[in-house]
Amino acid sequence: TTPSASAADPAAGAAVKAADRAHVFHSWSAQGLIDPLPIAGAEGSYFWDYDGNRYLDFSSQLVNTNIGHQHPKVVAAIQEQAAKLCTLAPGFAVDVRSEAARLIAERTPGDLDKIFFTNGGAEAVENAVRMARLHTGRSKVLSTYRSYHGATAAAINLTGDPRRWPSDTASAGVVHFWGPFLYRSPFHAENEAQECERALAHLEQTIAFEGPQSIAAIILETVPGTAGIMVPPPGYLAGVREICDRHGIVFILDEVMAGFGRTGQWFAADHFGVTPDLLTFAKGVNSGYVPLGGVAISAEIAATFDQRPYPGGLTYSGHPLACASAVATINAMAEERIVENAAEIGEKVIGPALREIAERHPSVGEVRGLGVFWALDLVKNKETREPLVPYNASGAANAPMGAFAAACKRGGLWPFVNMNRTHVVPACTITEAEAKEGLAALDEALTAADAHT
Ligand code: PMP
Repeated sequence: TTPSASAADPAAGAAVKAADRAHVFHSWSAQGLIDPLPIAGAEGSYFWDYDGNRYLDFSSQLVNTNIGHQHPKVVAAIQEQAAKLCTLAPGFAVDVRSEAARLIAERTPGDLDKIFFTNGGAEAVENAVRMARLHTGRSKVLSTYRSYHGATAAAINLTGDPRRWPSDTASAGVVHFWGPFLYRSPFHAENEAQECERALAHLEQTIAFEGPQSIAAIILETVPGTAGIMVPPPGYLAGVREICDRHGIVFILDEVMAGFGRTGQWFAADHFGVTPDLLTFAKGVNSGYVPLGGVAISAEIAATFDQRPYPGGLTYSGHPLACASAVATINAMAEERIVENAAEIGEKVIGPALREIAERHPSVGEVRGLGVFWALDLVKNKETREPLVPYNASGAANAPMGAFAAACKRGGLWPFVNMNRTHVVPACTITEAEAKEGLAALDEALTAADAHT
């Protein structure tokens, strides 16, 4: 099918938008200042509006449609499950829930063999933190400044990015520290080895001054996503693992964004040979076709709750429609070599093209990433690395990024934009031809950013 051809119906689009403006209260937005685009449909790497404009989705929505839009096997699995059994309380054993847990446990690293299901990423983080506190009997949790962990009570406080600020009234027990990021090194390091060594020393010092006996957990995104796709230097995650072991601290890796193929491995932790004690997932587990997330739990932490109840639960934990879509998604990813595709497209097409684009555009300061998980760090000046827009800029101060995003959309590309960065995060299923089409549109749109250097 050609997605855009049959879709033009501006009157229907106007009606959808009018109803939205009347009754939908949107996330993260000043309700009176937004102009949501009505969407008529989606397939594979594309979605389209009611005016017949088709967009190549370089954002994977919120970096979740790893398998693309409307994958036929996943759609069929949801339909079949809906016809069979739509809902069942979490206390029962049900075939699709058991199978989803088995498929996930088989793929998570090490002995993370028990799965607690949630409805999304923030709830996964909430429950991982609760497990760590109950397991250790300690209260503090350490997380990094350049991070995003979700928007519920504990998760927003763990989050390091400025979305935390308005909600940061109850952050008791949360301590932020600096993770490694060589391009904008908090440690003034000159190379990756130095960055790694100094970041680990900084973490050690933070722990010493907070008191190791009070720290339940350290939570890190394996590769921080929303905050800038900062692939950690070799040795960093292994170093954190060692520090956690030495101090009896639970190591939580948040793979809500990086998991399920995004980095070209099932989990980003696979790139670093590191096994956390708890691993949170959501998004790519079923590409968000039905809300689902969860925590993969080590044998040791699971044993804490073997004879003593786990004091947490959710009405929709392991929802049958969500689990059926996870089973179909994971099986399709394996059968169709979708994780391998993400690795190959990243290594052979996206990475080289972005590096070449960076050479020609004065606004591109750094290219970093792996798999289908890439960031362009846009700058005013390549020498000074001054960001194209100030940290957390809004309104007129953010106009250069607005101009860049508008140029992408005019070129049929839907970008992911955060602060001074654009992320290239298409579906793991993206073909070489689609990637090249999107990269050409991105290349063109970057001239709008260059105008502000
Ligand atoms: N952790 C990470 C690393 C994320 O990227 C996100 C979502 N962007 C979350 C947690 C929160 O997930 P959700 O929005 O499903 O609650």
